[in-house]
Amino acid sequence: MVAMGMTFEAALAHAQAGEFPAEEWLTPLLACEEVDAPRLYAAADAARTGGVGNAVHLRGLIEFSNLCRKDCAYCGLRRDNHAIERYRLTPDEIVETAQHAATLGYRSVVLQSGEDLWFTAERLAEIIVAIKSTTDLAITLSAGERDTDTYCRWREAGADRYLLRIETTDPQLFAALHPDDDLEERKACLYALRELGYQLGSGMMTGLPGQTAAMLARDIIWLKSLGAEMIGVGPFIPHPATPLKDAVGGTVDATLRLVAVLRLVFPHAHLPATTAMGSLHPRGRERALQAGANVVMPNVTPTSNRAKYEIYPGKICLGDDAGHCRGCITGRITALGRTVATDHGHVHRLTH
Ligand code: SAH
Ligand code: SF4
Repeated sequence: MVAMGMTFEAALAHAQAGEFPAEEWLTPLLACEEVDAPRLYAAADAARTGGVGNAVHLRGLIEFSNLCRKDCAYCGLRRDNHAIERYRLTPDEIVETAQHAATLGYRSVVLQSGEDLWFTAERLAEIIVAIKSTTDLAITLSAGERDTDTYCRWREAGADRYLLRIETTDPQLFAALHPDDDLEERKACLYALRELGYQLGSGMMTGLPGQTAAMLARDIIWLKSLGAEMIGVGPFIPHPATPLKDAVGGTVDATLRLVAVLRLVFPHAHLPATTAMGSLHPRGRERALQAGANVVMPNVTPTSNRAKYEIYPGKICLGDDAGHCRGCITGRITALGRTVATDHGHVHRLTH
């Protein structure tokens, strides 16, 4: 990192000039020993105001199944974790949860799950149609890797967006974490989603074992080439029932640096202040909103199922209901002098 030889000031100047990202100047902005954090966050906050304005977009998160065919080394939902109780909302429950979100004022919901093949192309398509025909919600899907025909069916049914984090673009690290997955296939999923006209979301975790600032810099360059329009980043939080239970995990500060650098590189993107940030620090999401983020994804999953969607331990809001979360987050946003957006929050397509 120091060997890169570029000072923080020079690196920040590159970022603020809006150049195509380069490892040479991204790395010093991401590496802790180099960074003047308050200046970096202030620069990102200004870029956020200019790029996407003051309003914060809310997406209601519906965690509709915790069954998963995959065994990702970091995740509490991995198939080899037999200690969690598995659940799957019925199609009617999913539609009703979305409708409830709409009555709470949400303009957009995210349907997220493990890779649960019970939700065939057809079954989820019917759910999407039912939500679209009874509400005015924008729909984001986050159901992992599926074949192109399935993504196509869901897009035709009316899904607007898809979130699939690349997690890391480092081939060795990706392979070490994903016994079932192939990095090139995951990239191919994102290319297919882009071709199908989804608003494209991806992202990564910070603090993965062996991950470096240079790796994160290369992730950012790849996301820029991809044309990612929503980028979710959060700290890796070790889960006790996974092979990575003794890992150190990510920090709020490293994630804030990444959010800030992403905002400088992607002035028009939607960047969530993630729940994982709020789980590591009581004001983690607020701090992200002041370092470049402009989206929050409050949980609208029925309260009785929330604790079972334990991707990582210590998740916030497990005992709360959707109405409470909506009020709580609105208060947090307005306390920052920001407003809650009233539109659907579709992506700003100025460059694509
Ligand atoms: N099955 C889908 C969606 C659910 S997982 C998928 O994998 O895309 C959603 C995200 O949770 C993952 O992309 C990953 O970045 C994040 N995640 C998983 N385990 C985590 C952990 N231990 N700490 C923090 N984030 C985690
Ligand atoms: Fe399954 Fe997603 Fe967790 Fe991997 S990260 S085990 S695909 S829920």
